[in-house]
Amino acid sequence: MAGRHKELTAEDGKSCPNKKTMNKLTIALQKSGRLHEDSVKLLKECGIDISNGLNKLKIEAENFPLEVFFFRDDDIPQYVEEGVADIGIVGENVLVEKQSEVTVVEPLGFGKCRLSLAVPRQADYTGINWLNGKRIATSYKNLLQQYLNSQQIQAEIHEISGSVEIAPGIGLADAICDLVSSGSTLFANGLKEAEIIFKSEAVLIAHRELSAEKQHLLNKLLFRIKAVKKSKHNKYILLNAPNEKLDVICRILPGMKSPTILPLAEPGWSSVHSVVHEDKFWEIIEQLKAEGAQGILVVPIEKMIV
Ligand code: ATP
Ligand code: MG
Repeated sequence: MAGRHKELTAEDGKSCPNKKTMNKLTIALQKSGRLHEDSVKLLKECGIDISNGLNKLKIEAENFPLEVFFFRDDDIPQYVEEGVADIGIVGENVLVEKQSEVTVVEPLGFGKCRLSLAVPRQADYTGINWLNGKRIATSYKNLLQQYLNSQQIQAEIHEISGSVEIAPGIGLADAICDLVSSGSTLFANGLKEAEIIFKSEAVLIAHRELSAEKQHLLNKLLFRIKAVKKSKHNKYILLNAPNEKLDVICRILPGMKSPTILPLAEPGWSSVHSVVHEDKFWEIIEQLKAEGAQGILVVPIEKMIV
């Protein structure tokens, strides 16, 4: 257990089984690092007020029965498994590596990265067999071992806890297995990505046996999270169209139920309002323009409840 988080430990949780939080849900978030900001932002977008928590290890939400604990991401799966926190947000990479017994409730769409094998740029890497008999440095020994087994590769795994990317440069390993998002860290260390072994994003996890009361609170939170997630993939669109084109424009813009049509002050014209999914967004705009739509406005949606 890392010394920098002495204030809250799994032992504390076991000796005092959430007595003070019986009617509250407790959530474990990363204290600082790549998931911290997006995790806090998600709670805020769900209307949960945790504004007074700067630099604290524990914050109580003002307007929702939720208490937030801040931990190292490595500790979150274990704490949720043991019930120190009821739910948590963690990368799937950490969750699977730790092999914790928790329920995965919902993927959250942020913290996207991949766990990849990388080799020195000048290596004549032709395929996975290159790794046979090699030394691979990683912080993800379980995920790597599973992958090597599945590929029938025999390699020596050197487990190190940080700065994995420098291992080949200092002669500690022939290859590494580490998290990658843009690939710039690999490039800066003279490495190239060879194989993607696991794709990850942040997920909401829960203790396996929540009380009915806590499950009810989790359902309420999840309802909000889904509304926030959905809104991010959709845009509200407003446009003006000549009345004779309304039929064809409504077919292009199906909306949540059907588009809203309001008459403009100018005779023969209407304003059409609808919702479009980001995947089809540009395609739809082109079709609308081709059919005579004018003054097209696109507005972000804050929450979407369907
Ligand atoms: P902690 O101090 O909490 O242990 P950490 O240094 O282990 O933090 P971070 O680097 O903050 O972890 O990454 C947290 C998580 O963010 C990762 O486990 C992963 O799920 C996700 N992530 C997204 N992109 C990347 C990336 N490019 N490199 C590393 N992690 C990433
Ligand atoms: Mg960590």
